Amino acid sequence: MALEWFRRERSVISPEQKKTTQDALWVKCDNCGEIVFKKELEKFQLVCPKCSFHFAMPAEAYIEMLADPGSWIESDSKLKPLDPLNFKDSKKYSERVVSSIKATGKNDAITIGSCLVNAFPVELGIMEFSFMGGSVGSVVGEKIARAVDRAIAERRALVLVSRSGGMRMQEGMVSLMQMAKTSVKLTQLDEAGLPYISVITNPTTGGTTASFSMLGDVIVARAGGIDRICRPTCD
Ligand SMILES: [Zn+2]
Repeated sequence: MALEWFRRERSVISPEQKKTTQDALWVKCDNCGEIVFKKELEKFQLVCPKCSFHFAMPAEAYIEMLADPGSWIESDSKLKPLDPLNFKDSKKYSERVVSSIKATGKNDAITIGSCLVNAFPVELGIMEFSFMGGSVGSVVGEKIARAVDRAIAERRALVLVSRSGGMRMQEGMVSLMQMAKTSVKLTQLDEAGLPYISVITNPTTGGTTASFSMLGDVIVARAGGIDRICRPTCD
């Protein structure tokens, strides 16, 4: 099945648009610099056919790849971050949130829901690096906590795909608390005898590495993820 972000928005193109559209059929690999045909990249599940570099994948791509067709039900998509510190650096935190929501169409840096994976019931969460660097604040922590509660109540496995710069410093101590909060919830999942599979993608750094990303019963890393987590840069 063709991945959604490769589909053309226009079925009819003008001569002026033709060159632009043709250009969009190709993509330059960030690692080897080779120009790769998008259809070929799709065929290899976003792994560069020239150098095996793993391209970033949006949440929708993971859902399409992992979830059985028609089984995905998103949860807590309306949760939005508050600004408990009324934080401002070069820009207000509240303004950063608004622009991230506008740019990504997401309300925070993780998409979570339930689905079947090869008919096996799973709570699946995928982090969104494009939303403030995939930083973990109160909403990400709360959504993971709720996913664990649902997993325990419905006897599901938990799968989290990490792509994150670390904790969200604009929320100060509230963000750091999410490290303890998610760790405690994962302990509850463990005590319930349910599996947690952590998928680490590039980059996964900082407090995300220091909490839920490294607490999996099984930890899987896309190429580049392990290399980057050895050199935390964010917090
Ligand atoms: Zn490449």
